[in-house]
Parts: sequence; structure tokens; C-alpha cells
Amino acid sequence: MQKLLSTLLLLLIIVNCYAQEEVPFQIDVTELDKGLLLYHSYGDYNGNKVSANGMVVVTKDSVVIIDSPWDNEQTVQLLDWIETEISKPIAAVVITHAHSDRIGGISVLHERNIKTVSSQLTKVYALKRGFEAPTKVFHKEITLNFGDHSIRVFYPGAGHTVDNTIVYISPYDVLYGGCFIKSSSSTNLGNTEDADLDSWGKSIENMQKHFPSPKIVVPGHGNYDPGAVENTIELLGYK
Ligand SMILES: [Zn+2]
Repeated sequence: MQKLLSTLLLLLIIVNCYAQEEVPFQIDVTELDKGLLLYHSYGDYNGNKVSANGMVVVTKDSVVIIDSPWDNEQTVQLLDWIETEISKPIAAVVITHAHSDRIGGISVLHERNIKTVSSQLTKVYALKRGFEAPTKVFHKEITLNFGDHSIRVFYPGAGHTVDNTIVYISPYDVLYGGCFIKSSSSTNLGNTEDADLDSWGKSIENMQKHFPSPKIVVPGHGNYDPGAVENTIELLGYK
């Protein structure tokens, strides 16, 4: 009996190893506007495959990435894709908060000497959670200018996390809300483990004051149909 049990256990371990080694997640990229790309990376969240949005801004001489893919493998995929399809150097990667779906590939970025930018708070939480610290930090807001493109990273206050930031991308009039904003079809607030539910609504007001009526709002997960901000407010129970 003992032997049978240990054989079974061994079999289970082997099956499990194979299961984990299954096909790695594959990123995909779509064009949102000329020079503005939306990419999806994937992660396992409580046994479910979840997609996360990130962006690639193609400026005249370089590329800026908003959020790292979920893990190292997919970060390598994204960097390879950019090298093949765009062939411009990566000027910076903005990290909008210190969760894996935003910062998961930071060590690969640093290995390749790519500059990473985040708020000071995100740096603090990155280190707390065992990630490498972003190389450049700001406090409330930073604007990265590249010719006709400007990328404004803004801290609206706590929400999905204490450190979440949002990014306004000119000239597209696109506001990338990251996980601070839920998609219009989200039916819940997602992962609220590190959320500040009491401050979230006030922080959205700050966002709206700062960026009153962007053409498109891109949430951290899901589609970018209109109504994302309104739905987030509703999910928070403010209405
Ligand atoms: Zn998050």
C-alpha cells in the first residue's frame, strides 16, 4: 500500500510538472491608432487565464512601452516583436503599479539596459514584493516628451492599489487607466487585495479633473469600449 501511494505521488508530481511546462503564454499586438499599439499578455490568476492590456507607443526615433508583460517569457516575446516589426530602440518602459501584470518582466528589461519609470510609491512596493526597483522615479507626475509624442504619467491617488498611476498619451487623446479603471463590461472590481476602496472614487475625480474627456480610455484588462470610467464608478457603488 505504502509503495502504491508513493508511486501515485510520484506520478502526480510528474503530471504536474508537465502541466506547468505546457505551452507558454503568447503575447498578441493590435493597432489602436497609427503608432499606438495595444498588446495583451497573459497570466494565471486563480487557475484562470487572464489577459492584461499594455501599450506600445512608436515615436519618431524610439519606442515607449506602457507596462511590462506579465512574466519574463512574454517580455522577451514583446521585445523580440518590437525589434523585428519596429526596429527602433526602446526609450523607456513605464510601470503603472507593482503587481505582476505590470512589472512581471522588469528583470529582463534591466538585463537589456532598458530604462524603467515608475512613481516613488511603486518603487517602494516593487521592492517589498521582491521585484527589481524601476530605474527612474517621480513623485506625482512626469511627462516624457519624444518629438510629437508626449506621455504623461500621473498619480491620481489610491484605488486598485495605493501606488496605481495612469498615463495620458498625446497626440492620440488616449488615457491608459491601467488597473485603476475597469472595462465597461467588467462585472466586478477584480483583484482588490491591495485596493483602497474608500479612496478610489475620490482618486477617479482627480483623474477626471486632470484629464477631463479623453477620446479613448484603456483599462488594465478587457476591451476599451466607452463607459469604462462610468462602470468603474458604478462597481465601486457610487453611481
Ligand atoms: Zn494590479
